[in-house]
Amino acid sequence: MKYITLKGEKLNVDIKNYYEYLSPNYVFIPFLPSYSSKKESNEMVFKEELVLKGKNKFYSSISGRVIGVKEFNNYLNINSKYLIIENDYKEKYEFKKSINKNYLNTKKIDLINYLEEYNNCETQNILNFIKEHEIIDNIIVVGFDDNLYSYQNRYYLEDDITKIFDAISLLNQVFGISKSYLLIKDNNSKVINNVVDFEGTYPDISVNYLPDIYPLSCEAVLKNYTKNYMTENSLVINIGELLLLFGLIYRDKYQTEMIVTITDLIKKKVYFCKTKEYVLLASILKDYDPNSVCYINNPLNSNVVDVNTTVIGPEVKSIIIDKKVNYIENPCLNCGKCIEVCPLKLPDLTNNPACVKCNLCSYMCPSGINLLKESSHE
Ligand code: SF4
Ligand code: SF4
Repeated sequence: MKYITLKGEKLNVDIKNYYEYLSPNYVFIPFLPSYSSKKESNEMVFKEELVLKGKNKFYSSISGRVIGVKEFNNYLNINSKYLIIENDYKEKYEFKKSINKNYLNTKKIDLINYLEEYNNCETQNILNFIKEHEIIDNIIVVGFDDNLYSYQNRYYLEDDITKIFDAISLLNQVFGISKSYLLIKDNNSKVINNVVDFEGTYPDISVNYLPDIYPLSCEAVLKNYTKNYMTENSLVINIGELLLLFGLIYRDKYQTEMIVTITDLIKKKVYFCKTKEYVLLASILKDYDPNSVCYINNPLNSNVVDVNTTVIGPEVKSIIIDKKVNYIENPCLNCGKCIEVCPLKLPDLTNNPACVKCNLCSYMCPSGINLLKESSHE
């Protein structure tokens, strides 16, 4: 099968274009149906304190006071409830967790206990996988950014490569693994230079360089490039998840801050922002022009979002700002390009439940038809 490389604008990506947004006035914790609040209005909340509990747990990223519950549309345009916490700017903890000095002796059962206690939706799949697989053959760390204008993994790899190698090595030790894999794309010279210096120092980690094709993170595509070592007992995680696990083992600290990349295609600039989780998107955007449009994570399959009501949680990796464009859809030419490029070769395209919503079919359509949108209308 012939795979596609996405053609985006060539932008200068420099992780020094960095700023922080760590003192928001408010945070908005998603109050999902069937969840219950552990806090009443006007009650004080500590940083990292459990505030909402249901199937998973949600923790506050700031200390402050509960204001109440508000409803507005999230970025998927679904009406959602949020628990609002007003910042007291004191970053008060109930218990300041100390470094786990014994972290090198962590066993698989310890990690399961940490994950069960934390029980965040970001780590649910990892926990299930670890519990269901008695033996983990290896860890495959996805260190590349798959989506157009997404640079979060690149930030981590350029910012602190030692931490990433240490984290993989520590997990190897936890699971008794002799070799794990870090995957990066072969066209990113800055990242490659960074990684090459460390590769030999960690004999339990192999770095694999993969071509810049899309969607490489789709399991069916990725398997073609990792079949020599990917087994049904391979734990596949991204760098954000790797660092989260490392944080749980090493410092017993909960993740309440995150890195997002902001790509402004109008100013042709890429920024990296460290922010508290669950703030409004508008608050982290500098000089945002209301005449522009904003997408979350992947401009190929995301709808335009309202920056004033979109809350950014850990699932948000990148934000893309672009000019408003009126797309014109022409009639279908029956050219078959959409099926030809589909990584899963789905005959009924986006209507098929196996569709991974990469939207490559629409990207290649000469008539400009958004096939994902077509299927969501049905
Ligand atoms: S690529 Fe577009 S024009 Fe060609 S068959 Fe598919 S939907 Fe029709
Ligand atoms: S049908 Fe389109 S969106 Fe779905 S997997 Fe295939 S190319 Fe991707």
